[in-house]
Amino acid sequence: MSKISSNLDTVRAELNQAALAANRPPEAITLLAVSKTRPAEDLRQAHQQGQIDFGENYLQESLDKIKALADLPLCWHFIGPIQSNKTRPIAEHFHWVHTVEREKIGRRLSEQRPADMPPLQICLQVNISGEQSKSGCLPDDVEALADSLVTLPGLTLRGLMAIPQASSDETEQRAVFARMRTLLTQLQQKYPQMDTLSMGMTGDMKAAITEGSTMVRIGTAIFGARDYNARDYHKTP
Ligand SMILES: *Cc1c(COP(=O)(O)O)cnc(C)c1O
Repeated sequence: MSKISSNLDTVRAELNQAALAANRPPEAITLLAVSKTRPAEDLRQAHQQGQIDFGENYLQESLDKIKALADLPLCWHFIGPIQSNKTRPIAEHFHWVHTVEREKIGRRLSEQRPADMPPLQICLQVNISGEQSKSGCLPDDVEALADSLVTLPGLTLRGLMAIPQASSDETEQRAVFARMRTLLTQLQQKYPQMDTLSMGMTGDMKAAITEGSTMVRIGTAIFGARDYNARDYHKTP
């Protein structure tokens, strides 16, 4: 068995265990394999092991992989920062976008979504730890952002996404994820179709699942270590 296959087995077992410990059905949690910097062959291997959902951060790299793997029925999630002049290929090639943090980006994605494709599934990225350098809209602004995007024809507003400040303390991790859950619960009063909490990475998957994550984004635990850290990458200069 290849390393990627056995890693996937391990991550799935951990996901199941965390779900059951939280009295949640494991099927309520989608495992997103975060494949940035990985060659298409690695994704193909993961797919042979049943993996369907892949998360990518860098546009050109992801377009190359989407093309190379067009023979497979994969679901592509864009999870990187979005420049407004790069929205078109995202709207044309992805199923999900997790990192919508302002109205202008959402409007462009909706306008540029091809009419013959289903609406783009989007999550609003929230700067839940309130770090100045971090992407995402502030928790206080998320309802207004939802209001401005929910009626756009090219989008389906699915939920919220966050990359909290790194912490190795599970209690701290849970406290931040619980704030995300509360925020979603509040929004659901107005927008019951919002059913997604995209949160949890290799270092905090268990805490995220305990607090209600419905999509965990796992890179390192599946594909091995990268040369850089996602949290650093997301800091704006
Ligand atoms: C890279 C990345 C991940 C995966 O991080 P790991 O710690 O390798 O699991 C998850 N989410 C986002 C937004 C990322 O950029």
